[in-house]
Amino acid sequence: MKKMKLVMIGNGMAGVRTLEELLKIAPDLYDITVFGAEPHPNYNRILLSPVLAGEQTLDEIVLNPLGWYAEHGITLHLGRQVVQIDRVRREVVADDGTRAPYDRLLIATGSLPFILPVSGKELDGVITYRDIADTQAMIDAAQRHRHAVVIGGGLLGLEAANGLMRRGMDVTVVHIAPWLMERQLDDVAGRMLRQSLEARGLHFEMGAQTQALLAGDDGRVRAVRFRDGREIPAELVVMAAGIRPNTELAERAGLHCQRGIVVSDTLQTVTDPRIYAVGECAAHRGVAYGLVAPLFEQGKVCATHLAEFGIGRYTGSQVSTKLKVTGIDLFSAGNFMGGEGTEEIVLSDPTAPNGGVYKKLVLQGDKLVGACLYGDTVDGSWYFKLLREGRPVADIRDRLMFGESNIGDAGHEGHHRAAAMADTDEVCGCNGVTQGAICKAIKDKGL
Ligand SMILES: Cc1cc2nc3c(=O)[nH]c(=O)nc-3n(C[C@H](O)[C@H](O)[C@H](O)COP(=O)(O)OP(=O)(O)OC[C@H]3O[C@@H](n4cnc5c(N)ncnc54)[C@H](O)[C@@H]3O)c2cc1C
Repeated sequence: MKKMKLVMIGNGMAGVRTLEELLKIAPDLYDITVFGAEPHPNYNRILLSPVLAGEQTLDEIVLNPLGWYAEHGITLHLGRQVVQIDRVRREVVADDGTRAPYDRLLIATGSLPFILPVSGKELDGVITYRDIADTQAMIDAAQRHRHAVVIGGGLLGLEAANGLMRRGMDVTVVHIAPWLMERQLDDVAGRMLRQSLEARGLHFEMGAQTQALLAGDDGRVRAVRFRDGREIPAELVVMAAGIRPNTELAERAGLHCQRGIVVSDTLQTVTDPRIYAVGECAAHRGVAYGLVAPLFEQGKVCATHLAEFGIGRYTGSQVSTKLKVTGIDLFSAGNFMGGEGTEEIVLSDPTAPNGGVYKKLVLQGDKLVGACLYGDTVDGSWYFKLLREGRPVADIRDRLMFGESNIGDAGHEGHHRAAAMADTDEVCGCNGVTQGAICKAIKDKGL
């Protein structure tokens, strides 16, 4: 029987995960063709930060080596950007003229970094932080230059700054908001984070507005000028001030886009049911996600529909955040800022060893709706589980702050009953981190 043709645009984390899910359930349904603008097989983009910090190598972060594509009969076009989707002929066209017809098309083009519209943005030494090429450019710059400025004190900016500092650069983070990671942390945790990072050697310009990037005689950036007229030296400027869904190709093909390519609960574009979109480029119920966990959930649902099982709907995700800076533990999820109609349970010990401990749990009625943890994140995934399940916590409210291990049966004591659990049961909410290893060991030994 002639197979249907599936073409995927974008060889990144969400797209390839969708293919993996599809191959598990319908390995023979499609002839698959993949176009990737980057010259690399699918790699773990999240781990670019440990690579930058010198903790991992590029080889170690490859998720699907070339052999994987060959093994599954996938035609892979690396280093080729798709420049047109012809919906009438049902084919895509790449920048080198390659054409690929499709019965189903999967768009997984990710995001583009937001470039601050300031003069000097096109100078040598001004880069963004998104892929292997950017990471390599930062590693090279760190060998030849001294001063780096990172614009943006969010997750990405801080990981870039930490990595450059670990590679010997003198790094200043410029952040417009009053505290760091203001979308993931409240002001107390944000300020504690800043103190810890300052103690490690990072510099901060908070509330500062970048006005221009100034060129040196060699055409390379040499300084950043702020609106108040001050200048600081910078031979490398990393723009990490946000991302926007990469929708240009879809828009040109007439697909409805609004803060992303608009998709239904089946991850089909609302304009053309033959065309699917997953990952950071997709807008589902008005939300374009920027973290992998929800994108993998999308991939799973999308795969069942591509496999023509037609089961499963994607109804949106709750997200949680961690920062990958070794030695700094922070976690946040849900409505961690609280507000009207909510109550907060707070534990604060700013002088605890290693930069202090701060924990805030936000409750609404008898449910946990948000958590912000700094310094001690052992219970982060347990709180996240409670939050996602919407389980009433009134009966454990007095012990909630002290973590899962203080809840008796529901907590780590319960692990002694692990032998009685099915292999697929979640042993605890710790996600294999910290106690997770112990929990798994207990379970494996059948204790
Ligand atoms: C440094 C860094 C650290 C991160 N850390 C975390 C973290 O700790 N936790 C977390 O959850 N998330 C993190 N993220 C975010 C996470 O990596 C993304 O959410 C995820 O990679 C998005 O997957 P995607 O497939 O939508 O996009 P991507 O992985 O970006 O893949 C899209 C691919 O499509 C290609 N492409 C685009 N247009 C075309 C075209 N026209 N033709 C062909 N190919 C095209 C792109 O080149 C790219 O390779 C981090 C991101 C970065 C950059």
